[in-house]
Amino acid sequence: MPLTGIEIFKLLPKTNCGECGVPTCLAFAMSLAAGKAELSACPHVTEEAKAKLSEAAAPPILPVTIGVGDRALKVGGETVMFRHEKRFENPPGFAILISDTMEESEVDSRLDRCKQLQYERVGLTLRPELVAVKNDSGDASKFEALVNKVKQNSDCGIILMSTNPDSLAAGLKVCADRKPLIYAATKDNLDHTADLAKGSSCPVAVKASNLEELTQLTTKLTEAGVKDIVLDSGSRTVRQAFQDQVIIRSTALNKKFRPLGFPTIVFPCEMTNDPMKEAVIASMFVAKYGGIIVLSDFQGESLFPLLVARLNIYTDPQRPLATTEGIYEINNPDENSPVLITSNFSLTYFIVSGEIENSKVPSWLLVKDTEGLSVMTSWAAGKFVADAISPFVKKCSIGDRIKHHKLVIPGYIAAESGGLEEELPGWEILVGPREGAHIPAYLKTWKP
Ligand code: SF4
Repeated sequence: MPLTGIEIFKLLPKTNCGECGVPTCLAFAMSLAAGKAELSACPHVTEEAKAKLSEAAAPPILPVTIGVGDRALKVGGETVMFRHEKRFENPPGFAILISDTMEESEVDSRLDRCKQLQYERVGLTLRPELVAVKNDSGDASKFEALVNKVKQNSDCGIILMSTNPDSLAAGLKVCADRKPLIYAATKDNLDHTADLAKGSSCPVAVKASNLEELTQLTTKLTEAGVKDIVLDSGSRTVRQAFQDQVIIRSTALNKKFRPLGFPTIVFPCEMTNDPMKEAVIASMFVAKYGGIIVLSDFQGESLFPLLVARLNIYTDPQRPLATTEGIYEINNPDENSPVLITSNFSLTYFIVSGEIENSKVPSWLLVKDTEGLSVMTSWAAGKFVADAISPFVKKCSIGDRIKHHKLVIPGYIAAESGGLEEELPGWEILVGPREGAHIPAYLKTWKP
């Protein structure tokens, strides 16, 4: 049973030093009990107390990592039902299905799409993370060969899908060092897959036919010493699968029910044959509450919106998305190209840089750190005014890269032009358009 806030409080130092980010040990204990804080935030807790608190300190949905290195995918670790309560922690991974009954050319083109389908947006690279290798043939050696091919030709994480423990063992033989997800332990092969998971230190997915059976299987697995578990409730209708996701999340968080306190895997690819419907179902699981989402294929027209939906849902609602401060070169600018400046709210950057790119006019875009606020908001907050802009323009040394010393400011902060000319001697301040859509027409009239 998890500890109550008062029981946790008794184990804390009770100095109320505030280093954990809340003013008192009691407040910290309450946050820990609610799964909204991590024990590591208190630097003064004793080793003895740490051991006792480990269960209470563990997130109600344990995190699981698939893969190694830069491409490792961490799922789970969630602490809230709704994004507005705090934030969602670890975005779900998207997996493409590759079967050992597919033609070689189809396997190659799917692996190719895994590599090619990645997108730059708001300074981030959006891409899928996983390949689910399925043993439809039932042949262990065929499966092993395909797993080896995936390993050699993709840096994505791997899901080994088979009901046959011999096939899973064969797949693990070639890719255990990449920490794949073993899918799946069922009531018929539980002991065998538990041994495989423990022997290889790889995470394992549990598949059951309902939540009750799922609870029994995860209990047995944890008793057998397997810690990294992913849940498949077995539902393959949209309604039941959605209901299961909500029940699993709610039971783990609100009831602190450990047997369901793990991330989930869902299979939109097994819920419809229509690719568009599949994408819609997948988007539902991005919002609620898929940990790994397996798709029948990756196509740009459905994958890109899913990646963007995931980005939007897994951003911290309390922090605006921000672009890194600096000089951005668009369309290969030179010493005669215009210099524009804007705020570092990602959406602003995205719109302004897109319009400059569309104009085909080589330009320099200065992005000033305004703590992720838009032009008008940051101006009103005093973060995008002459006093703040001029030190940045001097420090970034754009003056050394151009001949003309003209700076185009957004139309909305036209009132700053006089102040900027005072703060930046030798510079001519030009007032650009208010709206991003008018930037291309404005730039076409540019003369150094
Ligand atoms: Fe108490 Fe530790 Fe927080 Fe200090 S850092 S207030 S000792 S819980």
